[in-house]
Amino acid sequence: MSKRDYYEILGIDRKAQPDEIKKAYRNLAKKYHPDLNKDNPEAEQKFKEVREAYEILSDEQKRTRYDQYGHAGVDDNGFEGFGGGGFGDFGGFDDIFDMFFGGGGRRRQGPARGADLQYNLEVTFEEAAFGAKKDLHIPRTETCPTCDGSGAKPGTRAKTCSKCNGKGTIQFAQRTPLGSFVQTKTCDQCGGNGKIIDTPCPECRGRGQVRRERSIAVNIPAGVDTGSKLRMSGEGEAGERGGSPGDLYVRITVKPHKIFTRRADDVICEVPISIVQATLGDEIEVPTLEGKAKFNIPSGTQPGTSFRLKGKGIQHLNGYGRGDQHVKIKVVIPKKLNIEQKKLLIKFAEISGEEINPEQKSFFDKVKEVFGV
Ligand SMILES: [Zn+2]
Ligand SMILES: [Zn+2]
Repeated sequence: MSKRDYYEILGIDRKAQPDEIKKAYRNLAKKYHPDLNKDNPEAEQKFKEVREAYEILSDEQKRTRYDQYGHAGVDDNGFEGFGGGGFGDFGGFDDIFDMFFGGGGRRRQGPARGADLQYNLEVTFEEAAFGAKKDLHIPRTETCPTCDGSGAKPGTRAKTCSKCNGKGTIQFAQRTPLGSFVQTKTCDQCGGNGKIIDTPCPECRGRGQVRRERSIAVNIPAGVDTGSKLRMSGEGEAGERGGSPGDLYVRITVKPHKIFTRRADDVICEVPISIVQATLGDEIEVPTLEGKAKFNIPSGTQPGTSFRLKGKGIQHLNGYGRGDQHVKIKVVIPKKLNIEQKKLLIKFAEISGEEINPEQKSFFDKVKEVFGV
């Protein structure tokens, strides 16, 4: 499915300033608002398109990503990216309505988009690194399957409201000293729905909606991190009066790992080695995300040295390749030595011509006395 360019949708230049973007959005949102386009089914689609374009271009971070990578940069598999507060300062349907029309009862008539849902999902370090499939159990509002959302018992129909003829609003003339004005108000007989249900659906009791717990399979892409948000289009609460459903946002938290820590897409681990290994060099085993790997430490390795295992880190989320693994060397100084070990170390110091401070020297002299070496 090819998507239209966001700048094209809003009819603005790629260098447009934030206030130009906002202005273009307001004009188009007003033009295509579903409440003003009841007889034009395309309008809601257009409205959504405009809203999506604004959501991206009004967010500096997302706009930069969009400029660099196109739609793939901001909407790859519905993925939203790191940390960004997905909902931003965008208000949603009702707010726009309020912005232009001052709210009031009129909004009850038209289709209303369902609310967005957020689910907080904890994944393991490995799942974040390699991706995973998860089944989420989401309680949500759905269109009633028995009456298909009409609210009327199957076999019966909702009647068109006789007072407003199904419009949901009634007009009345108001006389004022300045003349007579025609005003519109919400129909009090149907509450603005335009319909009267005589025999309500037994399942939803006329509401047209029911609560359901759904199992929803979600693909966690490799490379997600704490704060990543996945958008599952249309998996939120059901819309009302034929409105589209909201979206489900899955917010990721990555559990800490016993061995590894993460810095962007790099993996860091600390590996202890002995003073002998550090001094002479050795082939050691290091843990990687894929299991143990052999690694040669060179002789004379200093404490705190970091070695890089290229490409052993975490998959980049919106691109190819992987981060690196950093193996940080911790040289463990022995806390207890037996006599034999001590003697050898003293011998080592002597051969090296090492100065040992007087206090230590006298101690070592005593050792010599006792053991005759
Ligand atoms: Zn029903
Ligand atoms: Zn009515």
